[in-house]
Order: sequence, then structure tokens, then C-alpha cells
Amino acid sequence: MNVILLGPPGAGKGTQAKRLEEKHRLIQLSTGDMLRAAVASGSDLGKKAKEIMDAGNLVPDDLMIAMISDRIDQPDCANGFILDGFPRTTPQAEALDRMLEEKGLKLHSVIEMKVQDEILVDRITGRYTCASCGAGYHERFQQPKVEGVCDVCGGTEFKRRSDDNAETVRSRLAAYHAQTAPILPYYAEKGVLKAIDGMTEIDRVTEQIEDALGAA
Ligand code: ADP
Ligand code: AMP
Repeated sequence: MNVILLGPPGAGKGTQAKRLEEKHRLIQLSTGDMLRAAVASGSDLGKKAKEIMDAGNLVPDDLMIAMISDRIDQPDCANGFILDGFPRTTPQAEALDRMLEEKGLKLHSVIEMKVQDEILVDRITGRYTCASCGAGYHERFQQPKVEGVCDVCGGTEFKRRSDDNAETVRSRLAAYHAQTAPILPYYAEKGVLKAIDGMTEIDRVTEQIEDALGAA
């Protein structure tokens, strides 16, 4: 099963992708995570992407399309994948269609996670992750069971993304509304779009996604 989680930054795509990975043995393909790894490694792609990401703008389509195409070809994607953060523009959506067809793959569903902008700013500025295993947390909405200790791996070091500040969030939301939201009608026309309410509790959001996938 190949699924797209589509929604603004902070909508809960990463949180829900991790749950889908476990429950359905799918692989989360987060283009944001891949780019952050490229930045950390100091690769040519990372050097090109860093400034763009820090400004809250989108990395050029050709780079993103090549990156995701290579990743989908890897054997661990054979049972299916969850696209988190891709596609983000009309050219990316069109290229994904061509790519899937060439690779003989089908898109099961596109889940639109709807969340209001004001809530997103709170979610993003309060977000942090475990430095060891990457598990996601929030200062108020998703705290570890024991303060300062990761629920998943017991790690005690946490980190924040450099672009998760109030100013960059505004640019990222503007990019979402201008460049990403316009691809929703494209998927609606294909009959694969399922919209869910991303503003309820994390467990309720998971239930809605499971329902949407079952009904697809
Ligand atoms: P995205 O991957 O779409 O950018 P995340 O999954 O990282 O978003 O979620 C952003 C932040 O909001 C995280 O700190 C996460 O713990 C928190 N969060 C995710 N889903 C919810 C929810 N339904 N209610 C409250 N907080 C949430
Ligand atoms: P994310 O982790 O999805 O919030 O993405 C973080 C940043 O990476 C974005 O603000 C963009 O600069 C860049 N990025 C991630 N995915 C894409 C994509 N599909 N197209 C263009 N830029 C992307």
C-alpha cells in the first residue's frame, strides 16, 4: 500500500507516519528528514538545500523528484511506503504519477490532514525529538511519560529543528498555501483524496486515518 500524507507543516504527518509504519509494515519517506540528513552530511545537495530550508522556502522540484525516485527503488519500499512531505508542488505531483506508472506502482490514498494555521504555529514551536532515535514530542501535547527520558529508547538528549521558529513557520505556511494546497484538487479528481480532521487528539487522528485507508 502506497499512501501520501498531505498537510501543512505541523499537521502531524510524521507522528502518524510512524504509527502507520508499525501497524502496516510500511516505510516512511520524509523528504524533510532526507534533506536534513543531506545537510548534516555536508553533501552537495545538503549545501544547496540548507539556506532554502532555513528561509522556509521549497527546494527545487528536480532535486526532490530525483531524490524520491531513487528512494522508492530501494528494496525496503517493496511492501509499500508513506510519503510525508512529498509531493509539495504540482510538478512534483505530476512527476510522482509518471514515476509510479513507470515503476508499476499504484497510489492507494492521499490523506489530507486539515489543521488551522494558528494551531500549527503552536505545534511547530513546541516540537522536539529524541536525539538518539528521532521519536517526536511536544512541550505540551505529547510529553514523554518520564520527564527528560525518551519513551522509545530511554535517551536523555533531545533536539529541535533550526527551522522550527515562529518566523520561519510563517514562510513555511505561506509556501504550503501557495504551492502545496493547489495539488489537493488534482488528487480529488482522481478519486483518491480523503480529508480528515487533524485537530483532534493524536489517537483520534490515527483512527480517522485507519478508517480512510480501509474505505479507500
Ligand atoms: P509534521 O510531520 O506534519 O510537520 P509532526 O508530526 O512533527 O508534524 O507534529 C508536529 C508537532 O505537533 C509535534 O510536536 C507532535 O508531537 C505534535 N502533534 C502531532 N499531532 C498532534 C495532535 N493531533 N494534537 C496535538 N499535537 C500533535
Ligand atoms: P518538512 O520536514 O517536511 O517540514 O520539510 C522541511 C523543509 O524541507 C521544507 O520547509 C522545505 O524547505 C524542504 N522540503 C521538504 N520536502 C520538500 C519537497 N517535497 N519539496 C521542496 N522542499 C521540500
